[in-house]
Amino acid sequence: MSKPEKLIIDGKRLDGRGAQDLRPIKFKAGVLKRADGSCYLEFGGNKVIAAVYGPREVHPRHLQDASRAIVRYRYNMAPFSVEERKRPGPDRRSIEISKVSRESLECVILQEMYPRSAIDIFVEILQADAGTRVAGINAASVALADAGIPMKCLVSACAVGKVDDTLVLDLNKDEDNYGQADLPIAMTPSGDITLCQMDGHLTEDEFRTALEMAMEGCRYIHQLQKQALIEKYGQMVSPPAQEAPAAETAEVKEEIFKEDVEEFKEQEQQEQGGEANE
Ligand code: UDP
Repeated sequence: MSKPEKLIIDGKRLDGRGAQDLRPIKFKAGVLKRADGSCYLEFGGNKVIAAVYGPREVHPRHLQDASRAIVRYRYNMAPFSVEERKRPGPDRRSIEISKVSRESLECVILQEMYPRSAIDIFVEILQADAGTRVAGINAASVALADAGIPMKCLVSACAVGKVDDTLVLDLNKDEDNYGQADLPIAMTPSGDITLCQMDGHLTEDEFRTALEMAMEGCRYIHQLQKQALIEKYGQMVSPPAQEAPAAETAEVKEEIFKEDVEEFKEQEQQEQGGEANE
């Protein structure tokens, strides 16, 4: 598509969103039978699947770390995921995205719990529409939780950009192509940033505002991630057994004790009656 004359018209973006709006987002946890954990995510026009395997034995063995699990992350774009067919296999872009995405999640994984093992994360982009790296991180984070990998928290990610001199949340494809800046960010729920990249230029003030917008976006995405896990596991966990209050328990015990005493007395009377008859 050729460059649109304007990307923002009367305060609205070309897809009808306001500057602070995310695209529609839908998570589904546990979609793959053979993976230890998985997640399917639709993030605007992006369709992403994440699969997690492990902790498992490391091959080749010389990659083992005696003190912690190693984390591996493979971001891969399907050839049919983009308008112009992408050549299959890794390239500079996918190697870079795999590295920064791995680092954005590695810092919340409790790697010391699994020495000499590997946690493998595969992210497949089935359909791309700008923001695939942040979509991949969001899906991978849910897949890690689905696999039961111990983590300090979930990681949520979204991009902020600048188009027509306006800061906007979650760039779409045209905004990514023709905008002035693109700032993908990942963070923990407490606001610790685990990924921050930037294409283009922002002033210091714009950068601060962009961070706040990203934080707001990540907060919302975090809720959706938790919701996806609750949907899968909420019904599976039985409610905790209700313990009777202490006073009630004491009453019941006393009742049982009284019944035992009565029974004992009856037995004794019967035996005495029997002896007298003899
Ligand atoms: N893209 C493409 N072909 C490629 C790589 C990327 O059409 O080989 C598109 C795709 O829609 C992607 C967008 O360009 O989402 C922006 O790519 P970028 O490198 O900025 O990463 P992303 O925003 O996806 O994390």
